[in-house]
Amino acid sequence: MKRVYNFSAGPATLPLPVLEQAQQTFLALPEAGMSVLEMSHRSSWFTEIIETTEANIRKLYNIPGNYKVLFLQGGASLQFSMLSASFLRGSNTPADYVLSGSWANKAIKEAGKEGPTNIAWDGKPDNFVRVPKQDELSLTSGSPYMHVTSNETIQGVQWAQTPDAQGAPLICDMSSDFLSRPINVEDYAMIYAGAQKNAGGSGVTVVIIRDDMLEKVPDNMPSMLDYRLMAEKKSLYNTPPSYAIYIVMLVTDWLLNQIGGLQKMTQINQEKANLLYSVIDQSEGFYSGHAQEDSRSLMNVTWRLPNDDLQAIFLDQAKACDLYELKGHRSVGGIRASIYNAMTLKGVEALRDFMVEFQKQHA
Ligand SMILES: *Cc1c(COP(=O)(O)O)cnc(C)c1O
Repeated sequence: MKRVYNFSAGPATLPLPVLEQAQQTFLALPEAGMSVLEMSHRSSWFTEIIETTEANIRKLYNIPGNYKVLFLQGGASLQFSMLSASFLRGSNTPADYVLSGSWANKAIKEAGKEGPTNIAWDGKPDNFVRVPKQDELSLTSGSPYMHVTSNETIQGVQWAQTPDAQGAPLICDMSSDFLSRPINVEDYAMIYAGAQKNAGGSGVTVVIIRDDMLEKVPDNMPSMLDYRLMAEKKSLYNTPPSYAIYIVMLVTDWLLNQIGGLQKMTQINQEKANLLYSVIDQSEGFYSGHAQEDSRSLMNVTWRLPNDDLQAIFLDQAKACDLYELKGHRSVGGIRASIYNAMTLKGVEALRDFMVEFQKQHA
């Protein structure tokens, strides 16, 4: 079967060994004699799957014991509401939000329904080409939390360093660079990520949350929005997205056993991103990158061509070379190559070669 190079932003390409493994066990997990799709979430087989998935994530990120790892539904988008309902509702002091791009904007909108927000930095006037420096942040003293988006998937801007929340709990939407590089989990009070960018398929959202945050959750939360209840029930209050969790297990197995951990992964990701940014930088303006150099994303590389006609030809010809899903998000246009963990170096080299050749023909 032919597989193209898929540069989709999400759901996105998965490691081939993961798909092969899923194919092998699709009809029956050998020890269970049934598919993961068919098994009870209370069975011993699924218990092992969810526990292994959690253990893998803990190992990859070196997560301390005072954090819980949850597998929730509703996407990262539900987290925008769930976290603000839990930690901002009823507060007179605003939560600090860094407005770094389209996803941060959505997070702020949802938080605004729950309580006051402060835009700690606004990237919109510059069209979201960078993240702020620490001394540009205007943080509120006593803020219930500070919220950041580690990688803006649509604009292709990424924090190279974790910001200092100056004592406030730091909450991070890590959807599009989750498990792409080592982080110090202790810098964060909570991390959340929809799996379908870098960690698996759609349907499950991973939440890493510190115990003291769980204690702050109000008592009257609807059960499905209650972090504390979800933690107590080990994400099994109701039926979890079991197959999606299984795929996250396979992806994290792959990261641990085939890639060799996040230090290795980040080196590969750096190498892949450098290939594309070098072509942009050496194109004498034929390709113009969206993000400023110090805020460039290693996950989503965004750029433009001299005009829309050429852009359309670029996309058509790329597709003819099996380079798919390179069209930028409808809200910003341009080109976007999403090169998450699972995109191979070979795939990025194919795109690089295509870009060089395209410029020769059309510059
Ligand atoms: C994709 C994405 C989301 C939204 O995820 P859903 O699972 O579709 O709700 C939120 N934040 C970031 C950074 C994303 O990339």
